[in-house]
Amino acid sequence: MTDSPEHSPVPLAERVERVTGAIADAARAAGRDASALTLIAITKFHPASLVRELHALGLRDFGENRHQEAREKAAELADLDLAWHFVGQLQTKKARQAREYASVIHSVDREALVDQLASAEHPLDIFLQVNLTDDPARGGVRPEELPALAERAAAADGLRLLGVMAVAPLDEEPRAAFARLRTLSEAVTAVVPSARAISAGMSHDFAEAIAEGATHLRIGTAITGNRPPRD
Ligand SMILES: *Cc1c(COP(=O)(O)O)cnc(C)c1O
Repeated sequence: MTDSPEHSPVPLAERVERVTGAIADAARAAGRDASALTLIAITKFHPASLVRELHALGLRDFGENRHQEAREKAAELADLDLAWHFVGQLQTKKARQAREYASVIHSVDREALVDQLASAEHPLDIFLQVNLTDDPARGGVRPEELPALAERAAAADGLRLLGVMAVAPLDEEPRAAFARLRTLSEAVTAVVPSARAISAGMSHDFAEAIAEGATHLRIGTAITGNRPPRD
């Protein structure tokens, strides 16, 4: 049996409580203030009704990694006050559409995307995604190219650069990977001092991310239960 919210032995409210409790514990252990952390519930593959339930439990920030799915859910839930975070790889030609529903795009990783997202419309918050692996197929700019991309993003119209984002590689201790990300964050603040945020930490590594300075946590299955299979 899948661990979907309907069939889960753990009710959704309790999952949310466990996660927020664990975040508070990790923040305390790191000497940080948990209220300065943003919890983003990643609801990919789950129906809009689940977002509605999480909203009723007090969550306001939600993340998706596929443009089509994100756009549909945002439209279906337009009556709710919530912020959509786009965290997946984004095609350049879909950038302007994503700008219409997303409050924050975490996966900006190349100049072409910066240029497409730049706009005189309402400002858009962005993170620059860094690739912490040697595999170029993974999303993210190469660390060497990060400062130049940060300068370009900071100079673009209608973009507010919040900071850096990354996913910990599977074959590395998450704490070590997030320590590298923290160093890369410092390389960005050296050129754009206001871009201090760090988007890092998923269901299995958010405590390590908090220990290394993460400010925006992207947590899926620990809140939602297992994702339903895609058809
Ligand atoms: C799916 C996803 C997450 C959440 O992953 P969990 O392991 O379910 O917490 C976070 N970040 C990105 C970029 C994702 O695609």
